[in-house]
Amino acid sequence: MMKEQLLAKFGELFGGTDGAKVYFAPGRVNLIGEHTDYNGGHVFPCALTIGTYGVARRREDKKLRFYSMNFEQLGVIESSVEGLKPEKEADWTNYPKGVMWAFGEKGMEVTNGMDLLLFGNIPNGSGLSSSASVEVLTGYILRDQYGFEVSNQDLALIGQFSENKFNGVNCGIMDQFAIAMGKKDHAIFLDTATMEFEYAPIQLEGAKLVISCSNKKRGLGDSKYNERRSECEAALAELQQVIGIESLGDLSEEQFETYKSAIKDPVRVKRARHAVYENQRTIKAVAALKANDITEFGKLMNASHVSLRDDYEVTGIELDTLVEEAWKVDGVIGSRMTGAGFGGCTVSIVKDEAIEAFQEQVGKAYLEKIGYAADFYVVEIGDGPVVL
Ligand code: ADP
Ligand code: MG
Repeated sequence: MMKEQLLAKFGELFGGTDGAKVYFAPGRVNLIGEHTDYNGGHVFPCALTIGTYGVARRREDKKLRFYSMNFEQLGVIESSVEGLKPEKEADWTNYPKGVMWAFGEKGMEVTNGMDLLLFGNIPNGSGLSSSASVEVLTGYILRDQYGFEVSNQDLALIGQFSENKFNGVNCGIMDQFAIAMGKKDHAIFLDTATMEFEYAPIQLEGAKLVISCSNKKRGLGDSKYNERRSECEAALAELQQVIGIESLGDLSEEQFETYKSAIKDPVRVKRARHAVYENQRTIKAVAALKANDITEFGKLMNASHVSLRDDYEVTGIELDTLVEEAWKVDGVIGSRMTGAGFGGCTVSIVKDEAIEAFQEQVGKAYLEKIGYAADFYVVEIGDGPVVL
């Protein structure tokens, strides 16, 4: 979608384009380190060159007029910056409104209204974090047009705060951080316990990142997500009876094996084992990447999927089919589910010469087994939010 087309649409909807600016915030894909961000572990996501475009203009009055080209049937949704609260009928606008509310909660009151047009070229509800993309985009627009002094890291924290408190999704910090801090051709190795991070160059010589979208909507995903969080919290509390740790991310594999008998329920043992081992796998994966050992990185991605399937139980037949079929294709370096699971996407590293066969073989097998088609995106790693 071209900048001019977006501006034209904005002008049509909201009466002219004077004072309107065009923005973009990426989506993200997590390469490894899944369900570790709320367990004090490491994650390794990167921002994508696909994401959410926004055209915005600050208003003189209090009115909010929002329109999304991804939800055209809902038309222009109007409200006000006064008394912001989540409302079911506000639908998707609860995301940008939540961010406006969150700025207010952090002492930066949004006193003026806004006209806002959105267009996303990432699938939404699919684990590429379109919600965090919208949140960071909104925060970035507020900073630019309302003059709030916040860093990109603050934009991530505000986005997470709004998703947690306004939209009732108990997400960790990974998504918003990956998007707000994105850097072209780099992934972000983030320690969610300390918020220390490091950019690691991703140079996939002769290979690309391929995202396979299952087109299975998460459905019950959000409640399962919250269930996994409480299972991990319960396991942590039991472990804290026998060892002084603050999060599951503090444990090495050996320590976990030594102390795991403190966890009474076998299901909780599996959940905690995933959190501990996945964190260690993420650390090893980044080390492998630095040593230019992409084969090892791929093996760790595969092991991550197995753990998410068997121990954390967040995959399901759709994601398992995509990944297990990917493993069969010659030239696939690694493949795993990405995001919260229960639907959404997988991420694979595929050699250039195998990409066509990958889409064909995995696509065919998926359609046969699941009954509807998957979508494939060959993606590039891009920067954080920008004004266009
Ligand atoms: P994910 O973040 O994995 O894409 P979520 O369910 O967390 O999935 O977020 C998807 C929701 O975010 C959509 O249902 C919608 O409310 C909002 N959203 C995302 N992208 C857009 C967009 N381009 N326009 C309007 N709303 C959007
Ligand atoms: Mg989301």
